[in-house]
Amino acid sequence: MTQRTVLVTGAASGIGRATALAFAAQGHMVLAVDLNGDAAEETAATDPEHITAFTCDVSDRAQVEALRDAVTEKVGSPDVLVNAAGWDRTDKFLNASPEFAEKVVAINYMGPVHLASVFLPAMTESGNGGRLIYLASDAGRVGSSGETIYAGAKGGVIALTKSLAREMARYGITCNCVCPGPTDTPLFRAQDEKLQEALIRAIPLRRLATPEEVAAPVLFFASEDASFITGQVISVSGGLTMAG
Ligand code: NAD
Repeated sequence: MTQRTVLVTGAASGIGRATALAFAAQGHMVLAVDLNGDAAEETAATDPEHITAFTCDVSDRAQVEALRDAVTEKVGSPDVLVNAAGWDRTDKFLNASPEFAEKVVAINYMGPVHLASVFLPAMTESGNGGRLIYLASDAGRVGSSGETIYAGAKGGVIALTKSLAREMARYGITCNCVCPGPTDTPLFRAQDEKLQEALIRAIPLRRLATPEEVAAPVLFFASEDASFITGQVISVSGGLTMAG
């Protein structure tokens, strides 16, 4: 692959971190973005030649605009955008406060919206095409009890991906999304242990995904091999979900 500039949000932990490291290992220039700037610096420190850290809250439009300005000044417009930033806490829908609901939607749905609306204008004007890849969730495809608002936001991300794919096609920008099932990251481990065990038992392949296994299709969607694929959704769930 020719060297490209890849912006990855949520790059301080879990799937985003594994994605950033995998792009860097292929020689790409990676912009590792996270709310947790210190942890993003730790990601960058593993491969300082290829990875630069940025601090940004993706749910805050003004911060995403400031990120774009900083990135543009440093390296120009990215070729690939990956949104892995996400957040949730498992609980019954009936327990959800309005503040919790707003936070879940702000991070998991508005974050991807801000990223697209702030970065895509320059990508469309460049005439170089590009790639947009969102980490959604199988919760957004098939529902997930205890993750109801999150599932709604992730379902929104899937529809956002498909609609952006239609609008961005004329600019040669493909938009796809990867839906992880249960994956061994701090986000998954924040859940009740009994729930973790029950989920693992329900997975036909009988284990969690590694963050690297979820990063793999992200790299595929960014690669030349995926040049004619857009508006698509792939699950990485060990067979937990098989709905069409
Ligand atoms: P994680 O908690 O390990 O990492 C998420 C990262 O996002 C963290 O570094 C966190 O600081 C960052 N982040 C959170 N809010 C942010 C914000 N407002 N702005 C910028 N960064 C922010 O989680 P993960 O499991 O690696 O999750 C990665 C993505 O995959 C998320 O979108 C998540 O919803 C999705 N996902 C994960 C699982 C799973 O089982 N782990 C399953 C389905 C979907």
